[in-house]
Formats: sequence, structure tokens, C-alpha cells
Amino acid sequence: MKKITIAKGDGIGPEIMDAVLEIFNSANVPLEYDEIQIGEKVYLSGNTSGIEASSWESIRKNKIFLKAPITTPQGGGYKSLNVTTRKALGLFANIRPCVSYAPYVATKFPNMNVVIVRENEEDLYAGIEHQQTDEVVQCLKLISRPGCEKIVRYAFEYAKNYGRKKVTCFSKDNIMKQTDGLFHEVFKEIAKEYPEIESNHMIIDIGTAFLADNPDQFDVIVTLNLYGDIISDVAAQIAGSVGLAGSVNIGLECSMFEAIHGSAPDIAGQNKANPSGLLQAAVSMLYHMGINDKATQIQNAWLKTIEDGYHTADIYSKEFSKELLGTKEFAEKIIENLGQLPGQLQAVLPPKNAIITLPVYNRKPRKEKKLLGVDVFVHWNGFDANEIGNKLKSIETDELQLSMITNRGIKVWPNGFDETFCTDHWRCRFTNKQNISILPSEIIGLLNNAILNEVEVIKTENLYEFEGVKAFSMGQGQ
Ligand code: NAD
Repeated sequence: MKKITIAKGDGIGPEIMDAVLEIFNSANVPLEYDEIQIGEKVYLSGNTSGIEASSWESIRKNKIFLKAPITTPQGGGYKSLNVTTRKALGLFANIRPCVSYAPYVATKFPNMNVVIVRENEEDLYAGIEHQQTDEVVQCLKLISRPGCEKIVRYAFEYAKNYGRKKVTCFSKDNIMKQTDGLFHEVFKEIAKEYPEIESNHMIIDIGTAFLADNPDQFDVIVTLNLYGDIISDVAAQIAGSVGLAGSVNIGLECSMFEAIHGSAPDIAGQNKANPSGLLQAAVSMLYHMGINDKATQIQNAWLKTIEDGYHTADIYSKEFSKELLGTKEFAEKIIENLGQLPGQLQAVLPPKNAIITLPVYNRKPRKEKKLLGVDVFVHWNGFDANEIGNKLKSIETDELQLSMITNRGIKVWPNGFDETFCTDHWRCRFTNKQNISILPSEIIGLLNNAILNEVEVIKTENLYEFEGVKAFSMGQGQ
């Protein structure tokens, strides 16, 4: 029998986990459980990560982790266990099905059934941040080809296996042509391999507006980390089911399954919590493990319980509920309904093949790459772009000449506008007039000149061309 790792967490965690395990046992789900301690007690014992080394061992051995919510103590430098787990275990995909259960759960969109596939490891969440001048801080947005390929392929494989018809990509590549541009480019490449699945792209802002206004036009949405974080909450909220939704974090080796909600300390220990979010995550876990018959049976019993009007307090309404139940009694009702199908809500069918395997990433041969120049970032307290322009011209070398200065991306030299507001953070671009490739030692020479002329360099970025294509952004207004 397959063993998985479970953690009962904090607050309502133990009550909702017990309810899920009770349902699993009654349905004869063929699993064994290895229980670990995570969360508040571990944090307060002085472990700032909230998880012991032996618990990592259990998760890495069993590869499947069903996690109840935890309480992160305020202050004290405690690290988010969720972020640590996602990154340490390489959980690259966050899958959030957002489904309406109208009329039993209030929603403006009774037919909504959208799956958000969010990239989970990259983007601004790499957490690489620096203060560079008195006035300017930066956060690096890192997007990689393997990262894009994994998540986009996962979205198409998910659509194929779960009988979904369309995958929509959300990005902001009209502005971020390199980073979001790569994501969109990979999406177009991989979409061609799945001609049976419709594909389209939307700019994230108008896409989110359409999602909030008419979610029925979407099926599967794949997007980058930050956008996915935001739209998955928007989508869950408009489905009316934030408290009912599960979240799935998939890696090539390990995977973690949890409810979206937190540990709800206000109702902990009162037998009031709704176990549905964790149950939805647990059902997705069974599909992921290929235990499809049990997953389908439990999901249909849950749908029947919801439509029969047996509700916990968070979704109870005089109009649509028949009886208010506690956590335990709600789980017992689901157990009674095992083997039955819902009559009103659509019954679920097992997916064609829920086990998604991705090809191993093969690094391609290096492309021909030319160094064309360098962006030198300078901390300077003045406001007059012509003054810094003259100062920076004095550090030019034989091979590298000042071609442009921008401030927060807007060109201010040569021929900037007086109206443009300038901070103390200046990007000074040095390139070769003949547009030929330069040696890295030229950049060292330039930086030496900067030191001699008391120019305060805070960082540099090399300007490259890959196979004849310039691989850096132009200045706005250039
Ligand atoms: P929360 O989701 O715990 O609670 C928000 C509100 O929703 C509360 O009124 C609560 O009673 C209610 N609620 C939540 N889940 C419910 C359920 N299953 N049934 C019925 N009602 C439910 O969010 P919060 O209050 O902001 O956070 C409480 C703690 O949870 C914090 O320590 C936070 O750090 C933690 N948290 C953990 C996770 C996680 O482990 N994945 C996620 C979010 C928050």
C-alpha cells in the first residue's frame, strides 16, 4: 500500500484532517499515513522554518504531502513554510480549480468551471531584492526557458487528460518583451504540439477583466507566478467558493496538496470548520496518484451532500440549506453518500489519465552570443541629465561610448524632456559605435575610469546579442 505524509497543522487543521481521513477510511482508499508535526509548535520551539529535518525526510521519501493549514506566528523572523516547501521541493505548478456550486453556494456565475495553472517557482517570487540608491529599490524578475516549458506543457497535458478544450495564456509581453515575451513565445511553441486543444493569449489586465466579468469563456488559464497568485484568488472568490477550494502544488518528484484557507483560529476546536477545501485537495491528490475510482466516488458523494443541503456554518443559508452540520457530522453525511451521484450538480467522471508526466528537460547547445556593450547604473544626486551626460562622457573608452541615459526606464539623455522626473538612479548605456562585439576587459576599463572620475557605479548589466538578435530592452522614448 502506498504511504503518504500528512500534517494536521494548527487551528482547525486537526479537525478537518480527521474528517478527511475518516472519509478516506470509509471509502477504503488504499493509503497509509506518515504523520509529521509542522507549524506553530515547531516555530515556537526555535525552528524558524516551522519544519524539522526528519519531516523533510518523510516528505522526500513518500513524495506526496497532504497538508492542513498552519499558523505562522507574527514577527520573530519566521519563514513561510509554504514558500519554503514549494521552492525546496521544486513544486513548479500550482493548480487551482475554481468551480461554482450554484445554487447551493451563492455566486454570480453559476456555470463557472475554470482551472488556473500558475507557475510557482520563478518571477518576482525569487525574492532577489536590493536597495541601490537612497531613492530606489529593485526586485529581480527571473524567467527561465525550462521554467516556462514545464508549466506550459503541464497546462496542456492537464487540459488533454482532464478533457478540457482550451488553454489561455495571460502575460504582459507588450511591456516586458524579454521576460513575459519568453513565456508567451514558449506558449506558442508548445501549443502547436496540441492541435486538438484551442489556445489563445490575452494581456493580463484585460484578461483579468474578462475573467471577472465573464469567466465562462475560460477553461484552463496558464500564467506567470505573480499574475497567477492574484487571478487565482479573483477566480476562487467569484466562483463563490474560496472556503471550498483546494490547491495543488506539483513537482517532478514531490507534490503538496492543501486547502486555500488558513488555520481559522477563531473557530478552532469548535467542530464548526468546513473540511471541504482540504477534501477537494485530497481528491486532486488521489487523481494525481492514479487512484481515480476512489477520487470520483468521494467527489460525487461530496457534491450530493452539498446539493442535499447539508451544510457547515460558513455556507449555511435559510434558502438553500436543509440542516446545519458540524465538521464531524458533515463528514459522516459524505460517508453515507459514498456510492451515490448528485442529481442536480454535474457528477464527475474519472479523467482519461490523471497521471501527468513531463519529458526531461534537455539543455540545448549554447547559442552564438556577442557582447555589444554595458548598462552602467549610477547613483547620482543631481537632476540635470545633461550634467550627468557630460560627466559620463568623460569615462568613455576607445571601444565603449555613451549612447543613452535613462531614469526609471525613460530616456533623459540625449534630448530628454524637462518635464521628466528624475530619481537618483541613472542607467547609462555604453555601446560600440561600429556595433562590433567587445571584450569583457573593455568593461573593466570603463569601470576603472568611473572610479577615477568619482562616478558611483551601483551595478552593471551586459548587453548581448543572441544569434544576431539584440537581447535587451531599448529605453522608453529611444
Ligand atoms: P483564515 O483562512 O484562517 O480565516 C479567514 C476567515 O475564514 C475566518 O473567519 C475563518 O473562521 C474562516 N474560515 C477559514 N477556513 C474555514 C473553514 N474551513 N471553515 C469555516 N470557516 C473558515 O485566514 P486568516 O484568519 O487570515 O489566517 C489565520 C492563520 O492562518 C494565520 O496564522 C495565517 O498565517 C494562516 N494561514 C495559513 C495558510 C496555510 O497554511 N496554507 C494559508 C493562509 C493563512
